[in-house]
Amino acid sequence: MMSVNNEILKEKLSKLGLYKMEAILDGISEDASKENLSYAEFLDRLLEEELLDKADKLYRTMLRFARFPYIKSLDDFDFSFQPSIDERKIKELSTLSFIGNGENIMFLGPPGVGKTHLAVGIGLKAAERGMRVHFTTLLDMIASLMKAYADSKLEERIKFLSSPKLLIIDEVGYLPLDKHGSSLFFQLICRRYERGSIIITSNKSYSDWGEIFASDSVIASAILDRLLHHSTTANIKGDSYRLKEKLKAGLVNTVGGLKMAEN
Ligand code: ADP
Ligand code: MG
Repeated sequence: MMSVNNEILKEKLSKLGLYKMEAILDGISEDASKENLSYAEFLDRLLEEELLDKADKLYRTMLRFARFPYIKSLDDFDFSFQPSIDERKIKELSTLSFIGNGENIMFLGPPGVGKTHLAVGIGLKAAERGMRVHFTTLLDMIASLMKAYADSKLEERIKFLSSPKLLIIDEVGYLPLDKHGSSLFFQLICRRYERGSIIITSNKSYSDWGEIFASDSVIASAILDRLLHHSTTANIKGDSYRLKEKLKAGLVNTVGGLKMAEN
């Protein structure tokens, strides 16, 4: 029988796409003889490293696809600064069961209170689990839908935005949409309805959503009706973390409504 050496094994591992195992075969073989590993232990060490490597690659691919504006986790979030946020609720959401149930999350509140940070933190959890996540601002998303419409590729674009397990739409409400933009948004929401989860961040309370959608309260309530059917709303009331940081650095002297004494 032809003798089997590591070079032959490495060639086969490479053909199978098991590149991590190929790279570490020599080292683990040495460990195996030093530590008297059983065949099963030897194979298990190799497989474990390959699995870790594959999970890491998948995570990095998911991160690229997600296009987060910054990488900040839920562990980086200081819940004591924002007592209106129910930390337990956020921890529960971070288990991602809402994604399995096709539910949505709505983060509402003024600028700087951590809406985007929380959305990114939950999105990162999903990416870590190998789920496809896509982050966009409302205006970028509508611009991409309008461009697709002009190029007769609307269906393709809606499919692209419907495929991720989690779609994060940031900054809903800073600028109003026109009739066409509102109708494109409505089409997207209908397509994802009860199929794929959405996280929305908005500076506007629901009663003001009519202003966002071409001053059309009918389309605004049709959108809200679908978004809120299975959803969790976190109404964040509090001071801007950005301003707190600036105050600390002495960049801002007076800020309306901000409690200077605490900083
Ligand atoms: P917005 O509510 O406007 O979306 P962000 O989530 O972008 O605000 O928060 C603004 C900045 O402040 C970000 O850099 C974010 O990481 C940080 N930040 C906000 N709230 C907190 C917090 N409670 N703990 C730690 N960092 C925070
Ligand atoms: Mg934001």
